[in-house]
Amino acid sequence: MKTELTKRIFMACITVFLLSFGLMFYVLNSYLMQRNIAELKDRAAYLAAAVNAHGWDYLQSVRNETARITVISPEGTVIFDSRFDPAHMENHSQREEFQEAVAQGYGDSERYSDSLFRKTVNYAVKLDDQNIIRISMEQDTIFRLVRAMLYSMLMIVCFMIILSVVLASQSSRKIMQPINQLDPENPDDRNIYDEMKPFIRRLIAQNQQIQHQIQQLQTEHKKQDAMRREFTANVSHELKTPLTSISGFAEIIRDGYVQEQDISRFAGNIYKEAQRLMNLVNDILKLSRLEDGVTDMQEERISVNLLDLCHNICDRMALTAQQHQITLTCEGKSVNMIGIPRTLEEIIFNLCDNAIKYNHPGGFVKLLAYPDPSGHAVIEVHDNGIGIPEADQERIFERFYRVNKSHSKEVGGTGLGLSIVKHGTALHHGEIHISSTEGQGTTIQLLFPL
Ligand code: ADP
Repeated sequence: MKTELTKRIFMACITVFLLSFGLMFYVLNSYLMQRNIAELKDRAAYLAAAVNAHGWDYLQSVRNETARITVISPEGTVIFDSRFDPAHMENHSQREEFQEAVAQGYGDSERYSDSLFRKTVNYAVKLDDQNIIRISMEQDTIFRLVRAMLYSMLMIVCFMIILSVVLASQSSRKIMQPINQLDPENPDDRNIYDEMKPFIRRLIAQNQQIQHQIQQLQTEHKKQDAMRREFTANVSHELKTPLTSISGFAEIIRDGYVQEQDISRFAGNIYKEAQRLMNLVNDILKLSRLEDGVTDMQEERISVNLLDLCHNICDRMALTAQQHQITLTCEGKSVNMIGIPRTLEEIIFNLCDNAIKYNHPGGFVKLLAYPDPSGHAVIEVHDNGIGIPEADQERIFERFYRVNKSHSKEVGGTGLGLSIVKHGTALHHGEIHISSTEGQGTTIQLLFPL
């Protein structure tokens, strides 16, 4: 048999067939038995009535009956038997039909004779004189019937097996046909049977889901494309401004419009614009390294002590802080995390740099590093600077977003510092929390899972 389905249908057919065959035999057998006992009962009742009326002599006339007739005394001694000599017969007090007849007036029993093929059926009735009259008959059992019909039965079984094979393979072909003809991309539940409908509906739902995901991906792709275009436009614009200044300054120096004593001021301007260009290019490089470096930076991860890192940055920024008249401090508890040292350093540097840049002379910047009880390494940068308006707090992590563009440029900002912070933190599976009040100061907190 070729397929699992055919095999299963075939097995079902054969099981049902054999079971019904067996059950039919059983029912037939019981029916035959009941009929025989009913017949025996009638004959016994008739005999008992005759003996009760005409006395024992009547029994002499039944010696040639097909059935065997026995009379047993209440003690079990055989008094009369139509076939055998009672003198040679054993006591019958233990026989089932006798005991029943003594107790309730009648009784029956059956015993297999020599083999399963023949059976003796007994029926006993109590006579008026308290003796028991028993009538016994031998009969064929159902097994004999089966044996007699063995050939025809084998033929029937063979026929049924062949029929089952044909039916099974036909049914399985019919069941499989709509499945095989199904177009998985365009499933149609109209010409299909009910059991298949939930499957088709699931397929349709899945197709819709895939379609939806494709659309989502396309939208995402378009969004990313737009973002990339915007970034390119922004970068070009950001590069163009200092380049325009530099080329302008150089042009007027070349054409001799600048007096001798002003040349160093102009050169200073050119130098400042060039520095800005350098910063911008550096930040763009850092950002793109963070954006696509997620996988190949994996190996660089080592244990980093954040408090030591903060102290290093404090030392590096001490001069800048002094120039801006800012009190820069660093404190906390030693905490180690696994991370990329260069990226973590850039993150803290940018936050610290902003806190100094967007501050008032006489202000403070405080760096904190510590492990918190919920299993995080925490870095906090506090300042009492100009603060960030509520409406801008969401957007300051976008590239080139500045609250006050001219102020940012004045202090040498590129608009990319917090983007670098955002990407670097994400690379360490960290979270950023910001709390800021305009005119009062800003606190930025980073949480890194330990
Ligand atoms: P920038 O290079 O301009 O500093 P950033 O991405 O670092 O760019 O910051 C974006 C903007 O967020 C800044 O232009 C500034 O307006 C605002 N900002 C960032 N940090 C602070 C801070 N500590 N206090 C006030 N404003 C801040």
